[in-house]
Amino acid sequence: MGISGRRNQEIYDLVGIGFGPSNLSLAIALEEHGASAPEHPVTSHFFERQPEFGWHRNMLLPSTTMQISFLKDLATFRNPMSRFSFISYLHASNRLVQFVNNQDFYPTRQEFHQYLEWAAASLNDQVTYGAEVTSIRPLTGDGDGTPDLLEIEVRGSDGTTEVVTARNVAVSTGLVPRLPEGVTSGERVWHSSEFLSRFRAQAPDDLKHVAVVGAGQSAAEITRFLHDELPHAQVSAVIPSYGYSVADDTPFANQVFDPGAVDEYYFGTERAQDAFWRYHRNTNYAVVDADVIRALYQRAYDEQVRGSRRLHFRNLTRVDQVEQLGSAARVVLRSLLDDRTEELAVDALVFATGYDGLDPARLLGDFDGHFQRDAAGRHRMERDYRLVPASGLTCGVYLQGGTEHSHGLSSSLLSNIAVRSGEIADSIVLRRTERELDRTRPMGAASSTV
Ligand SMILES: Cc1cc2nc3c(=O)[nH]c(=O)nc-3n(C[C@H](O)[C@H](O)[C@H](O)COP(=O)(O)OP(=O)(O)OC[C@H]3O[C@@H](n4cnc5c(N)ncnc54)[C@H](O)[C@@H]3O)c2cc1C
Repeated sequence: MGISGRRNQEIYDLVGIGFGPSNLSLAIALEEHGASAPEHPVTSHFFERQPEFGWHRNMLLPSTTMQISFLKDLATFRNPMSRFSFISYLHASNRLVQFVNNQDFYPTRQEFHQYLEWAAASLNDQVTYGAEVTSIRPLTGDGDGTPDLLEIEVRGSDGTTEVVTARNVAVSTGLVPRLPEGVTSGERVWHSSEFLSRFRAQAPDDLKHVAVVGAGQSAAEITRFLHDELPHAQVSAVIPSYGYSVADDTPFANQVFDPGAVDEYYFGTERAQDAFWRYHRNTNYAVVDADVIRALYQRAYDEQVRGSRRLHFRNLTRVDQVEQLGSAARVVLRSLLDDRTEELAVDALVFATGYDGLDPARLLGDFDGHFQRDAAGRHRMERDYRLVPASGLTCGVYLQGGTEHSHGLSSSLLSNIAVRSGEIADSIVLRRTERELDRTRPMGAASSTV
């Protein structure tokens, strides 16, 4: 389907916004539902603004590995028999035997990307690429005047727009790159989310001094990559903490990403939810895999032995000011130790300063006022990942991501996507059945509230 007409007449059960791993996993869950109920499949279509499938392409650095087991793929935890599992992909690629010989639970990100592309290719007819959703509006269909349908406006890469109608949307638009206040990216100042395309646009010889800001996994990986790729360059790592901290992926800590932890978080007391974050933040935020930390320390030590240092760690240091000057950047760093500032002239400055969570309000516009928020101003969420409506809306806005406050630590990660997408698919089917029953019920009989 292309963005050719102005309005598509079909009313979909679901329109998916974004086609990253979350909505890809949902498309698979719906397809597998259709296979088991072919007489009444859920009708759906997905819109993705990228021209083709891509998962954090700008961070597909050589030898970077997944931070989850390959078994936490798009489907296995929901349906171990799925034809979309990572094992099926290996089998289809004639690599299952070699993969097992390799005895590694953590494939490279490049291999996982190939897996995701392989799965997405099977569902091509359900996705329009190069199509950005710009707004979601309520639409009153039949009934008592409460909105029961959604209009989704989609802009194609050629600027044309199309409006599609659905009973539900799944907003899965992903994380939003975050730069420090006042910093804008440009030719020599980059966010990690644009890293590889910015890097490849430069002649390596022009990069004689580069600096990477941040204390997390991406910062450490980019520092290691630049040290490898630019053998003559000075590489500075600007770290707000006293060196990198390790990501805890030991078994007890890993339990916070279990499907069961979602219920425990969602139905837990405020104190329990606080404890999840207080004790287990270090499973994901501003932490680095131990092997990357060791590799970087080893390099710095080897350089010290040789007496020629080009890898520099500036610990407890923050960026005070950034100025882009044509083909260079000037950065003022402030040490937290003595409050002194230091000025660096660099050919590239990379901010691996993380991301903000998904916020559906941008797409919902005024319609956002139809949904409840808690005292802290966060969206109230149903257990099935639907925004809680302020009034009796029957259409559903599901979120995949942006639900850390309600569903816990795995919300923006891959760990739970297979199970989550199954829960969303089940909810769409259940609500549809209840709606259909309501329609056939005699006047005056009790009706469902979903
Ligand atoms: C470098 C990196 C590595 C990571 N590695 C891991 C890992 O190993 N394990 C893990 O659990 N998590 C990891 N994560 C976390 C990450 O959030 C998940 O891997 C995953 O990307 C979540 O999938 P998603 O589909 O929700 O979001 P995304 O992958 O971000 O996909 C969202 C999609 O929506 C599209 N989109 C956005 N807005 C619109 C719009 N308005 N209209 C149409 N399309 C739109 C985007 O183009 C994008 O393709 C990593 C994150 C990064 C940045």
